[in-house]
Amino acid sequence: MDLIIRNGVVATASDSFRADVGIEAGKVKQVGQGLGPAAKEIDASGKYVIPGGVDVHTHVDLKLMGHQSDDDFYSGTAAAACGGVTTIVDYAMPEAGQSIQGSIESWSQKATGKAYIDYGFHPAIFEPTQKIIDEMADAVAEGYPSFKIFMIGLARFDELAHDYMKVIARAGKLGALTNIHAEDQCIISHLTEHLNAAGKHGVRHFADSRPRGAEGAAVQRAIAMARYAEAPIYLVHLSCEESLAPIREARARGQIVYGETRPIYLHLSRERFEEQDGERYLGWPPLREASQRQVLWDGLRDDNLQTVATDHVGFNLAQKKSGETVDELLPGMSNLETMLPMLYHDGVSAGRISMNKLVRIFFANPARLFGLFPQKGTIAPGSDADIVIFYPEKEVTIQHRDMHSR
Ligand SMILES: [Zn+2]
Repeated sequence: MDLIIRNGVVATASDSFRADVGIEAGKVKQVGQGLGPAAKEIDASGKYVIPGGVDVHTHVDLKLMGHQSDDDFYSGTAAAACGGVTTIVDYAMPEAGQSIQGSIESWSQKATGKAYIDYGFHPAIFEPTQKIIDEMADAVAEGYPSFKIFMIGLARFDELAHDYMKVIARAGKLGALTNIHAEDQCIISHLTEHLNAAGKHGVRHFADSRPRGAEGAAVQRAIAMARYAEAPIYLVHLSCEESLAPIREARARGQIVYGETRPIYLHLSRERFEEQDGERYLGWPPLREASQRQVLWDGLRDDNLQTVATDHVGFNLAQKKSGETVDELLPGMSNLETMLPMLYHDGVSAGRISMNKLVRIFFANPARLFGLFPQKGTIAPGSDADIVIFYPEKEVTIQHRDMHSR
């Protein structure tokens, strides 16, 4: 064999056990006791040996609201690799009038020759025309079993809801999954208008423009649409009880609804927007009240939320400070390098979730949902040798100068 990682605690979605992991030609060859010999050996005593992280929600090279992210596939995937993330699935965002195939080609060009790790794409759909809906089958056949739609103004959702419902239904027929950004634009627009009229500008008022109720209303509508479209859905970046309650209810009825949350909602709350440079924490949806953090940990624990993903976007602070009114503030946080240690620290070390649950929500479940399992998301003979050796006792202070995201 090429490499043996000895004496670590191998953690999978169901088990933790002491074993050696033998690797040959980039694949896991054997997992067991006393393997050998190999050209190279690594002693992992006292450490976890876990699959590489699978982050299924990133935007490592993104132009949004006139701003280009500092990160690209080079720096974004360097940050990922240094944070124990070995696969990302990035959103391929089409230009106006572009075909699904065209958006996949544009994104492939951004990634080719730059990515340190494996990657895939979810094609996003902003123009749910019959032509685009007809293209979905080819995309699935080529290995893109997921699409993204946005229930916000950016995608003219309120105007085109009936057409977006056809996208959800078509994806279901094709055995694909529709990923949905759920926030209700009509509520957001109304509140934004009032905040702007009152001169309430800036990040301190941002969370009031996109409240929990706007997210919950859209989640309820998405679930109802999917129910009658007879298709499964995957709701991205959920942040609050208003989203969890309808998901719990739908899943109890037997509807196939999956939920994702982001580390920032598990670790941070909206008081951050009061800080100097509170723009650092901007995202859609915003950070919520502190009470919501436990709601999300509970959602992961009781399996109503299946995954954690970063929604990584590498905008810099100057870009994020360039907006004035609440609707001009640029969302996006860099998190690929810090997600795994944060989840371990606040999740496993703090006793909120087990190590095996961590493997499920960040490795096995995302890999399964998007067609990557068991090549990704587990350590077993035949799996890709994407392996993280994790030091559970090591203490690190996160500092900008140590990070690889630009
Ligand atoms: Zn996103």
